[in-house]
Amino acid sequence: MLKLIDIHCHLFDYASTVDLTDIDNDRQIIYVSTVLKPEEIATHVGKAIAFWFMGLHPQAVGLDDKFKRKYVDHIVDFDPIGIGEIGLDKNYPDLDKQIELLEMQLKIAKFYKLPTLYHLVGHEYEFIKIHKKWKLPKMKIMHGFNSSSEVFEELNKLGFYFSIGNRLLNNPKKREVLEAILQTKRFFLESDAPYDGGLDEVIKIAVKLKNNYEISMDEIKHILNKNFDDMVEGKFGYSEKK
Ligand SMILES: [Zn+2]
Repeated sequence: MLKLIDIHCHLFDYASTVDLTDIDNDRQIIYVSTVLKPEEIATHVGKAIAFWFMGLHPQAVGLDDKFKRKYVDHIVDFDPIGIGEIGLDKNYPDLDKQIELLEMQLKIAKFYKLPTLYHLVGHEYEFIKIHKKWKLPKMKIMHGFNSSSEVFEELNKLGFYFSIGNRLLNNPKKREVLEAILQTKRFFLESDAPYDGGLDEVIKIAVKLKNNYEISMDEIKHILNKNFDDMVEGKFGYSEKK
């Protein structure tokens, strides 16, 4: 039976309360975690969490340049499935430095042909401009998408995938954007646990989509599994699971 996939959560935050060993086995969900700090690495490698992104969030913009350089240069040593969550955020200072940090990581993603996962709050057109320039070869996922339909259109043209979470689902003004995202079939679901929901959140999100939009649970699971398999280039074995 196909499971749901949670494309973005922070399992490190559960390290002291939940047994993370084989966490995918005891639940109805496959988790894709995120590593944003050096102290989070061991939890993911040691606990054999199968899938995780690693990166420096725009909140790290003010940290020492040497630290950032070293962290980013070592991302590939830990063999994450991709680089994330990286991006731009108007709530943090110094846009130039944020762009520098983002591009430092895009360079690694492009060189090693890795998928990327983004955090974007404000600065949308700056972000779009950067992506037109970089033309990354692998899958790009916008986590927690909650922008306008104009921004959706631009990112859609650039081939982005969109991860649907509570921020978008609970925003009544964004119904049309959400419908457009579902139409593309290039979407994922996310809890962003513990920041926007709990570890079972994607089940609730999938049920809300099924109840309020024209999509079945079966279809949701197939789309998530196929998209995930496309991201890891068939290594997930979706065609055998079907
Ligand atoms: Zn997050």
